[in-house]
Amino acid sequence: MKSQKSKVKSQNHKLKVKNLYDKYVLNTYTKTDLCLVKGKDEYVWDIEGRKYLDFFPGWAVSGIGHCNKYVIKNIRKQLNKIIHVSNNYYNELQGELSEVIIKNSFEGKVFYANSGSEANEGAIKLARKFGSPDRFEVITMEKSFHGRTLATLAATGQDKVKKGFEPLPSGFLHVPFNDINALKNAINPKTIAVMIELVQGEGGINIADKEYIAEIRKICDEKNLLLIIDEVQTGIGRTGKMFAYEHYGIEPDIMTLAKSLGGGMPIGAMVVKEKFSGVLTPGSHASTFGGGPLVSAAALGVFEAIKKDRLLNNVNKMSKYFENQLNKLKKKKQIIKKINILGLMIGLEIDMDDADVIYKKCLSKGLLINCTQNNILRIMPPLSVDKKEISDAVEILEASL
Ligand code: PLP
Repeated sequence: MKSQKSKVKSQNHKLKVKNLYDKYVLNTYTKTDLCLVKGKDEYVWDIEGRKYLDFFPGWAVSGIGHCNKYVIKNIRKQLNKIIHVSNNYYNELQGELSEVIIKNSFEGKVFYANSGSEANEGAIKLARKFGSPDRFEVITMEKSFHGRTLATLAATGQDKVKKGFEPLPSGFLHVPFNDINALKNAINPKTIAVMIELVQGEGGINIADKEYIAEIRKICDEKNLLLIIDEVQTGIGRTGKMFAYEHYGIEPDIMTLAKSLGGGMPIGAMVVKEKFSGVLTPGSHASTFGGGPLVSAAALGVFEAIKKDRLLNNVNKMSKYFENQLNKLKKKKQIIKKINILGLMIGLEIDMDDADVIYKKCLSKGLLINCTQNNILRIMPPLSVDKKEISDAVEILEASL
């Protein structure tokens, strides 16, 4: 137990942190009243010493858990050598990381950025270059989320995030998700690409149908369109496969990655099929920080962790266990309307307009999750989660519901 004196000290420390934010940090985030100072695997601690089970680690950034040992080992080793190498030189690790990504996905080449938005910007630019000058339109899905830069905002299929930023770049069309006829009708002589998340994350854990994706792949092949799959949230083991497209028996032409790729470090990647790898040429696209040695070292640690600790196997086992537990909970709590789950990407549809209150209750009881679209509780525990932690979380959920 903390003494009264140290309790007051940590409260004052938190107040100081908050005051600095109020005074100096641009207020663009809806903030939870929590200052996190430590993380290890499935847990985080706040500045006042409280421990939380983190089932939404950094919006999926710490997908293999906080401060993973392989990630830390690699970062430490690299820190003693060199932190940044610009992309007009070779760095020892970018090629190595690219080999690992390609050997785990499809034959092609990788471009590095620093975030999901930037990876998607790269994909949009590559598509436009490929179609230039006559074909430039990208079809994306309603309720999709592709980022906050102007082009990725235009690509995003949610009006609420675009308001006030018009005029947005043109050349994007949105169609309903899982509706093949809507997509077919939208394709026109200007179309160059289809961009899609296989499980819409921000959109509320909406899972694409298998036949729908197979049909999109077929149409893209027939019409010489690029199929861009945004795996920023679904990639790196989240759905039980290294990449979500593997559930669908197809391959994308471009896959974008970020979030979990760096084990907490900022890295984004655009993986381009060999056939399209010559579209962007020297000088046509770049990123000053992209794929630097430190983030590459971290990302190599992520792949090492997944392989050595057999995390994909764990995701599949824990997914079944979690689904079972949630089905039992649904029987007890009518307020849960629907459970959407692929691997450890989980959405609970709640029969209320402001499920945010449930998220807040969970938080007060020591469980961190997320609420999206006002009525979906989004749960994405670290890939290394175990049965005990899942049971603890379900217990807190039950008490909060
Ligand atoms: N694409 C998807 C599917 C995402 O979920 C996100 C972020 O939530 C992004 C792109 C944007 O990524 P970033 O915030 O790293 O720019």
